[in-house]
Amino acid sequence: MEISEIQVDGYEKVVRCRDQSTGLHAIVAIHDTTLGPALGGMRMLPYVSEDEALYDVLRLAKGMTYKSAVADTGLGGGKAVILGEPAKIKSPALFQAMGRFIESFEGSYITAEDMNISVADLEDVRRSTRWVVGLSRAMGSSGNPSPYTARGCFMGMRAVLEDVCGSDDFTDRRILLQGVGAVGGDLAVRLKEHGAHVIICDINEERVAQLVRGHGFEVAEHDGHVGIECDIYAPCARGAGINDRTIPKLRCKAIAGCANNQLEKSEHAVVLKERGILYAPDYVLNAGGIINVAQELQKEGYVEKRALKWIDGIYDQLKLVFEISRMKDIDTHEAAAHLAEVRLEQVREDQGKVARS
Ligand code: NAD
Repeated sequence: MEISEIQVDGYEKVVRCRDQSTGLHAIVAIHDTTLGPALGGMRMLPYVSEDEALYDVLRLAKGMTYKSAVADTGLGGGKAVILGEPAKIKSPALFQAMGRFIESFEGSYITAEDMNISVADLEDVRRSTRWVVGLSRAMGSSGNPSPYTARGCFMGMRAVLEDVCGSDDFTDRRILLQGVGAVGGDLAVRLKEHGAHVIICDINEERVAQLVRGHGFEVAEHDGHVGIECDIYAPCARGAGINDRTIPKLRCKAIAGCANNQLEKSEHAVVLKERGILYAPDYVLNAGGIINVAQELQKEGYVEKRALKWIDGIYDQLKLVFEISRMKDIDTHEAAAHLAEVRLEQVREDQGKVARS
């Protein structure tokens, strides 16, 4: 196994690994461990080049630092990418080699599930390192994060609704969800149970039909759904859906969904503010899953009750982001980044004081 460091300004450690015998080609980026060991998922994609993989892992690792800082998980930010076509390269030996690579960080990077990585893959990784979270309940781990992400989104939506409608009562509020998969589907059901009028759309017609049969949601065409009038628009499918083409069509008071990287560019947060649409920053709203897996690292191990209490704190974190946005007259995306930076800076200062004393 060949391991070599890549020097990147602003990152604590970026390391490449190549293992000829298993075909493993991976990069781990540790952005910042000021608040604790770097936690972030591992994804596998057929990147066209190592540069593309590096760009992705750096962007995601930094995002994890901010996400954990705002969610107050006591963790830092990192990420891992494996280069290759999942159907062609996946093997238990490759994931065990990945485990050995992760083990070389001696606990300063902790991995979890991300795109194209299953719990079974992580179990292979776990054979050669203990620095893995998000395994099955049967293995004493915290299990599937999606219901926890959905719960956190729901709590965050309460804060959003209070802000834009003056009350967190969902009765007859119109909520439009794009994407009703693992998280969006669960969220739709929760919202309906709280009296909301839920409108769903998804490219998976079977999934839509199944949810309509069970819960009687209104259905929208996925093409053009953004123009539907609603109180909250919840993007719960893929990223970059909020962009120059969709923003002029939006007829919502707020955007609050679980999808990662909803804004095509960060400048779109400014445009939303100008249009008077409240944007709940995605990584603040969708932190339920990471908060849940982070609980595995507590001394007493994973305790669901404690995890749920922490996840419910997303309500307060969002309120704080909205307050900062108002006080500083900045958009909410910038306000969330500001909150993360302030938390990081405080701990850096405290660590500096300890080092000096
Ligand atoms: P999922 O794959 O289970 O669900 C996504 C759904 O979106 C699918 O039903 C899919 O058919 C639908 N979809 C895709 N493109 C669409 C389009 N153009 N229009 C309408 N529907 C479309 O994924 P998930 O786990 O529910 O995650 C959803 C989003 O939330 C992703 O962006 C993910 O990165 C993010 N997220 C998930 C978690 C988690 O715990 N699962 C945590 C944080 C963030």
